[in-house]
Amino acid sequence: MPRIAPGTPEAELPTPCLILDLDALEANLDRMADAARAAGMRLRPHGKMHRSVDLGRAQMARGAVGLCAQTVGEAEVFVAGGIGDVLVTNEVRDPAKLARLATLAAGGARVGLCLDDPAAVAPTGAAAREAGATLDAWIELMCGGRCGVADPAAVAPLAAAIAAEPGLRFAGIHAYEGSAQHLTGDAERGARIATAGERVRAALDALRAAGIDCPQVTGAGTGTWQHEAASGLWTELQCGSYAVMDADYGRIEDPQGQRLDQGWRNALFVLAQVISTPVPGRAVCDAGLKSMSGESGLPLVWGQEGVTATGLSDEHTVLDDPAGALAPGDRLRLIPGHCDPTVNLHDAFVCVRNGVVEAV
Ligand SMILES: *Cc1c(COP(=O)(O)O)cnc(C)c1O
Repeated sequence: MPRIAPGTPEAELPTPCLILDLDALEANLDRMADAARAAGMRLRPHGKMHRSVDLGRAQMARGAVGLCAQTVGEAEVFVAGGIGDVLVTNEVRDPAKLARLATLAAGGARVGLCLDDPAAVAPTGAAAREAGATLDAWIELMCGGRCGVADPAAVAPLAAAIAAEPGLRFAGIHAYEGSAQHLTGDAERGARIATAGERVRAALDALRAAGIDCPQVTGAGTGTWQHEAASGLWTELQCGSYAVMDADYGRIEDPQGQRLDQGWRNALFVLAQVISTPVPGRAVCDAGLKSMSGESGLPLVWGQEGVTATGLSDEHTVLDDPAGALAPGDRLRLIPGHCDPTVNLHDAFVCVRNGVVEAV
């Protein structure tokens, strides 16, 4: 990417270009921080979406207790950037990766990871002890069928084993219903969280019966957090996509039946340029799958009534433009289908405010 200087007008940016609208971003960050505070919950935003120390710091400055990461590498970057509390929301079984997490904890950060297997306790604890550190061990409870302890009653013996391992600190239950997040109807999402909540309750009962205190219950995403907050079971929210939104989240309904992109603002765009209008009613622009993920559907075209994407290939998006509104050279903001894998394709956010670059 060519060097982009602050002060450059958005209309002169090279395309395709990942842009972050700072006014919209900051409004979203404030809104979720306020909502978590009002619900009396801790906020630990998921950093796998942005993978950015700068965004993580902006979340911490608004009261987040820490960040979630999905990989050990992300955790290393966040800790190096001054984020003092990072939870890897995943199981980690490679001794080399456990040693890397333990090194982070030995450096003074609070570092957590998920366990779902009694056999993971000894090697995880040993890695921590070898580094002279303590790791936060969260027990992942299966919700919706990925990793996690399948039987809620099995959480108690696993917690007891963690408590008996000097290298580990039992931090609580990680219960994330990922498969519910993007369901369109709010009632449908609520039903999934109710089912997950029954499992959380059973796990908490099993811990109580065993005399083990459960410090936190962490989970939730942009699609469901109101349900976790209302349950009285979860104590910590892990929402990530709320910060920037995407086309897929934009079309789901909030508890009031309103589209999610009515309350949360689109802050993430791929700026593209129309390079051809080969036949009437069609425009083609220069951003495709190499700058935007496609697995969650086609991008939306920002602020262009009646223009819709019909196809996405490596370096092109084909647009249906029945009114012929677009001409070669026009720049368009495309709202990607899914924010996380889109951000992952780019080395930097070009941050704009009022149509002018403020930072890269
Ligand atoms: C991705 C993820 C989240 C955040 O989900 P969003 O839909 O981006 O808000 C929270 N927790 C876990 C474990 C995740 O993997």
